Amino acid sequence: MRFWLSIAWEKLGSGNFAGYNIVQKIAFARSLVIYEDFIAAIGEARTIFITAHVGPDGDTLGSMLGFKFALEKACPHIQRVDCVISGKMPDAYSFLPGIKEILRMETASTLLTQYDMAISVDCGSPDRLGLARPYFEGAKNSANIDHHISNDRFGKINVVETTAAASAEVAFDILKEMRIPLDANIATCLYTGIVTDTGGFKYGNTTAKVMETTAALISAGANPEYIFKQLYEEQPLCQVMLQADALLHTRFNADKTIGWAVVTRELLTQHGALDEHIDGLVESIRRIDSVLVAVVFKETESGITKISIRSDTHDIDVSAVMGVFGGGGHKMAAGCTMEFSITDAPEKLLPLLEEKVRQKLLVP
Ligand code: 5GP
Ligand code: MN
Repeated sequence: MRFWLSIAWEKLGSGNFAGYNIVQKIAFARSLVIYEDFIAAIGEARTIFITAHVGPDGDTLGSMLGFKFALEKACPHIQRVDCVISGKMPDAYSFLPGIKEILRMETASTLLTQYDMAISVDCGSPDRLGLARPYFEGAKNSANIDHHISNDRFGKINVVETTAAASAEVAFDILKEMRIPLDANIATCLYTGIVTDTGGFKYGNTTAKVMETTAALISAGANPEYIFKQLYEEQPLCQVMLQADALLHTRFNADKTIGWAVVTRELLTQHGALDEHIDGLVESIRRIDSVLVAVVFKETESGITKISIRSDTHDIDVSAVMGVFGGGGHKMAAGCTMEFSITDAPEKLLPLLEEKVRQKLLVP
C-alpha cells in the first residue's frame, strides 16, 4: 500500500513542492519518521473522521479543512472525509472555503459508527474533543496532529511539532511530504491557520520557515489582504462594544503586572454578544506596557469559568499554570476550564500568577 501511494503521489507531481530537496529532508529527519506512519495509515483508510478541540479557532478550522481538501483531491482511494466539531462553531471563519461542510456532533446525523482513521488537529488532550472523543478513540486508527507544548500524545500516531507556529504549518509539512499539490482552497485554509496562530506574524513563533511556508501558500492562491480583512477588519459592533466595556473594567494587581477582565453572561447579554466575541480581548490587555500576564475570565453557560491567558515574556510559562487546573496550551498563550464560579475563579488563580510574576521579577 505504501508503494502504491508513493506511486500515486509521484504521478500527481510535486507541484509547489518542487523546491523540496535532500537538505530539507535531513533537517526534518525526525518528523519524516512520524510522517511515514501517518502517510501509511492514510493509505490504508477508506473513511476518515477529522476533528479538533471545542471552541475552534482559525488554526483549528484551517487545518481541518486543509486536510479535507487535500485528501479528497489527491487520495482517490478515500471514500469519505467527515470534518466534525463538538460544540459551537464561531461565525468569524465563515469565509473559509468548505466551512459549511464541517458538521457539529450535536446535529450530525450521517456519521459512521466507526471510521478507518480519525485525525485530531490542533488539540492537546482528548478531553478537549468533547462529544467527538468516542469517535476518535473508536476509530481503527488515529492520528494526533498538533503543535501544543502540553500535548499528551493521545493518538495511536502522534505528529506533535511543538516548534511549529501552527497546526496548519504541520499540515503543510505533511502535505508536502505526501507531494499533494496545493490549490487556492488548501492554501487559504492553511494560511488562515498560520496568520491567526502567529497573531498576524507578530509573535515569536514567526520563524523564517513560517515565512517560507506562507510564501508557498500565497503562490498557491492564498490572498493575504482578503484573509486579513475577513479575520480582523470585519468585527461585529457587539464584539467591539463588549470588548470596550470589558477593557474599561479591567482590574490590575498593585504593580499592574497582572491585568484581568471578567466577562459574565450578563455582560454578554447586555451587548447582544456571544462567547466568540470575547476573542482578542486578552491580547488587548497584554498590550498594556506594565502587563506581564493578561487573563480573561469567561463565565460559561453552565456557570463555571473558562480562562484565556497570555504571557508577555518567554520567562513566564502560562501553559504550566493552566496545567494545575487541567488545562494547557503554549508557553505564552494558554487556557483551562475551572470548576469554579466566575466570582470564585479569580481568587483561585490570581495568587498563583502573582507568585509566578514575583519569581520572574526576582531574577535579575
Ligand atoms: P484561547 O485563549 O485563544 O482560547 O487559547 C489559547 C491557547 O490555549 C490555544 O492554543 C488553546 O488551544 C489553548 N487552550 C485554551 N483552553 C484550553 C484548555 O482548556 N485546555 C488546553 N489543554 N488548552 C487550552
Ligand atoms: Mn494552533
